[in-house]
Amino acid sequence: MNKNIALAIHAGFCYGVKRAVETTKRLKAQNPEKEIYVLGELIHNSQVINELKELGIKTVDTLPENNDKGAICVIRSHGASFEVFEDIKKKGYELVDLTCPDVKKVQDRAIELSKEDYFVIILGKEEHPEVVAITAYARKYAKDKTRVFVAKSTDALKEIEPTLKKEPKIGIVIQTTQRIEYLKEVLEYLAPISKELRVINTICASTSLRQNEARRLAKESDLMVVVGSKKSANTTHLAEILAPLTKTIHIECDTELENYKDVIQNAQNIGVTAGASTPDYIINKVVGRLKGE
Ligand code: SF4
Repeated sequence: MNKNIALAIHAGFCYGVKRAVETTKRLKAQNPEKEIYVLGELIHNSQVINELKELGIKTVDTLPENNDKGAICVIRSHGASFEVFEDIKKKGYELVDLTCPDVKKVQDRAIELSKEDYFVIILGKEEHPEVVAITAYARKYAKDKTRVFVAKSTDALKEIEPTLKKEPKIGIVIQTTQRIEYLKEVLEYLAPISKELRVINTICASTSLRQNEARRLAKESDLMVVVGSKKSANTTHLAEILAPLTKTIHIECDTELENYKDVIQNAQNIGVTAGASTPDYIINKVVGRLKGE
């Protein structure tokens, strides 16, 4: 019997990533003579990074000091701290800011909480570039920088419980690609021990849509295939959400399906979803291979 293969509607590039990739490519096409640098990986996908490299777009961790030919520096959708912006300008680069508007919103809300003297909690991974920038903005405007705290788990908050109990006002923002379950868990813990608690759900609409649709698809599927980089936060979260609901595998590209031959053979209804940094052609290859094309 033929297998049913269903691809989620909200899978692959979100508007923030699409805008970043398309604008960067267009910049190079319009300025072939200029060097284009992207500070950090534009998106967490090695195929796309290689594609950019082939077009002559350079991904760097640190900008070269000598910019004498009017080079351009791109800020990726994750955003960057105030200090990074200053450094780019100081080095004389033309700056193209592709911070996703939804990430900008989180930065603005974190700044607002700091200015209003809340103890700011940022839910997310400390080392993730989006969180690094949000933290930098919140700290810049906080009277006391130690009152901005990044928590990757509820346990991390439990470790500072005496501090939290003393705080008159606690404000929360969350990394755009986190799971709503994480926010709920934190609220359950914080509500009884906080004097005043302000919660701003900053998970972006694109992430919510993608996660909700993946959950729905998982209920109808005996196997879910999540496609995207293992370095991508939102892709990893999709796999984490789906694993308790149905059999789930997380692959980066179609060739990895070879490793799951038995699991695929035993499944009748297979759902496919993909992270925000996974290009369509990679998703289509996976779907094609599952269909035996
Ligand atoms: S996942 Fe959300 S916040 Fe991140 S780039 Fe896409 S739309 Fe923007």
